[in-house]
Amino acid sequence: AFLERIKQVEPKVKAFLTLCEEEALNQAEQLDRALAYGEEMGPLAGVPVALKDNLCLSGFPTTCASKILANFYPPYDATVVRRLKEAGAIIVGKTNLDEFAMGSSTENSAFHPTANPWDLSRVPGGSSGGSAAAVAAGEVPVALGSDTGGSIRQPAAFCGVVGLKPTYGRVSRYGLVAFASSLDQIGPITRCVEDCALVLQVIAGHDPRDATSIPGEVPDYRSSLISDLKGMKVGIPREYLGEGIAPEVRAVVEEVAAKLADLGAQVDYTSLPHTKYALPAYYLVAPAEASSNLARYDGVRYGLRVPAKEAKDSMALTRKEGFGPEVKRRIMLGTYALSAGYYEAYYLKALKVRTLIKRDFDEAFAHFDCLLTPTTPTPAFRMGEKLADPLTMYFSDICTLAVNLAGLPAISVPAGKVGHLPVGVQFIAPPLKEDKLFRVAYALE
Ligand code: GLN
Repeated sequence: AFLERIKQVEPKVKAFLTLCEEEALNQAEQLDRALAYGEEMGPLAGVPVALKDNLCLSGFPTTCASKILANFYPPYDATVVRRLKEAGAIIVGKTNLDEFAMGSSTENSAFHPTANPWDLSRVPGGSSGGSAAAVAAGEVPVALGSDTGGSIRQPAAFCGVVGLKPTYGRVSRYGLVAFASSLDQIGPITRCVEDCALVLQVIAGHDPRDATSIPGEVPDYRSSLISDLKGMKVGIPREYLGEGIAPEVRAVVEEVAAKLADLGAQVDYTSLPHTKYALPAYYLVAPAEASSNLARYDGVRYGLRVPAKEAKDSMALTRKEGFGPEVKRRIMLGTYALSAGYYEAYYLKALKVRTLIKRDFDEAFAHFDCLLTPTTPTPAFRMGEKLADPLTMYFSDICTLAVNLAGLPAISVPAGKVGHLPVGVQFIAPPLKEDKLFRVAYALE
């Protein structure tokens, strides 16, 4: 049924880069047989799942929506993929993204843009726009995305679905093509909060293959799915309702605050004073790490190679032809910020700001169980609208970036509409308190 649905809507939505139809059907048949024999089924048995195309799936291309990786076939599965398969999930395809996850609209894909299923003239958000659009269009019930500065939550908000960025280290990054290693985290995009909790349960947990993976048990997330918020304290940071946030979006946040109070929560305003420095700090830290991570695409080890007489010319030509304009911009910003003479003034300063941002959250969490903010300053914008000016594009992540700098978990849930377009709100919790996010988001549903 899902494959039928994909055939029906994919020509318009274009959420996928690769489909694994044959393998998916084979796997479904195998599961059917196992079920007939009375074998025990995993928690996601038979559930179709789509993967953002920066996650390694053995036997299929992993392109990161970049020409430089167009013919790269990883010889192994990412840890999240292995866990999904072991839980019985069926991988149906790889979804579109901004090249190397750099962007907020999926228009930076080297192959084609993806449309927002609610309005085909608008973007689905990004960089996990293919995953969010696929879930919103009913092509799959579950997709995985990656979130470095909002790339799960922002597209989830634009597409009217649920998106979770787990605590840094909660989910293994092994087999996720690195963008900014200290910020990247994989998470689920789903239609409802319960599905989100079920999927996190499967993909979370320690992995010796990722040195930043957090050891210890994963709690039972389903036990936090209760429709009651008694005793819960929710803070609304004033900085997230100020300049640049559309009044209609602010109104949705205020409606949500009233609903939370009706459900028994205590809701109060609070402050995160360094919020305005999150965007500049992020756009130093993320490109700095990206410039280092992307050095491996040299025309020798992976994917594309443009031949030349001299090896160094081949390397230069491969990178020139293989990377798109936004990726090149990030590499230049990053190498500049890391270069001798500028390192202290830019990169080191950004790291200090990062610490201040983290402290703001620590202080807020001394008084609140979680924080409520808009996920995005506006609903989905039109295709092409922000392409000419990278800064206005960067600004669409203004509400989500700080969470990655601080390593915190955050969820975006659909909370209202402006006209025909969905609006999401974001809840942010202390490290490893995903259960609080599920509780508050579930009660709101
Ligand atoms: N839009 C932000 C960027 O371009 C965030 C991307 C992401 O989270 N992968 O860097």
